[in-house]
Amino acid sequence: MKLVAIPAFNDNYLWLWHDEHQAIVVDPGQAQPVLDVLGSLNLKLNAILVTHHHKDHIGGIEELHQATQALVFGPEHPQMPLPFKVLKDMDTLELLGQTLKVLAVPGHTLSHLAYVAEQSSTQQAPILFCGDTLFSGGCGRLFEGSPLQMLNSLGKFKSLPDETLVCCAHEYTLSNLKFALHIEPNNQALLDYNKHCLMLREHNRPTLPSSMGLEKQINPFLRAHLPQVQLSAKSFDDQANEELSCFAALREWKNTF
Ligand code: ZN
Ligand code: FE
Repeated sequence: MKLVAIPAFNDNYLWLWHDEHQAIVVDPGQAQPVLDVLGSLNLKLNAILVTHHHKDHIGGIEELHQATQALVFGPEHPQMPLPFKVLKDMDTLELLGQTLKVLAVPGHTLSHLAYVAEQSSTQQAPILFCGDTLFSGGCGRLFEGSPLQMLNSLGKFKSLPDETLVCCAHEYTLSNLKFALHIEPNNQALLDYNKHCLMLREHNRPTLPSSMGLEKQINPFLRAHLPQVQLSAKSFDDQANEELSCFAALREWKNTF
């Protein structure tokens, strides 16, 4: 199986996962960039997976479905384009001979889903399609959910194997790392990663996919349990002395950073 990050809009990635014959796309906010890649790689679109109902994740579904007849799967939400199959926490999907596990990850929106391809039979790293829940070096804004919901959702990702490839829906890495470095200026893994990402972006290459092991080392939103992160967060909110209050303070701070 191969992964392709298709750029769309200013900073979205539409993830295409394929076996060189058939493909799955996640969150096609636009149809044309996906149709172009399907055409150039000579792939048939089998399924469309949706993480949440925001326009930049669903805008291309109707056109893609009409062009390819691909099945659409996603969360229960009135703004989802019809017809589609509703998925819930812990559902599994069998697509292209692969098993995908569905995780409910409320926070950015209440009905947000993530998809994990475990790939146990093939020796390939597991893949996480996390939409706007986790970004490299950051996490999604809390439009609908609470800090506790988001913290628990990110906790589900933390329990995935370190080698899990993290396929986020936006290229927000460099601006996230600016904030992360403000929180942990002496984190060597973070300093090294920032350098690496600056080089990638200079060459107009994606910083994604990331991995869960790396994110646990560099992403402050996965590190709110650590004393050095809480100490930094206290300069924004002096109550930030345990994981949840620290996480809430970081999220609030990042909104205006
Ligand atoms: Zn969103
Ligand atoms: Fe988005």
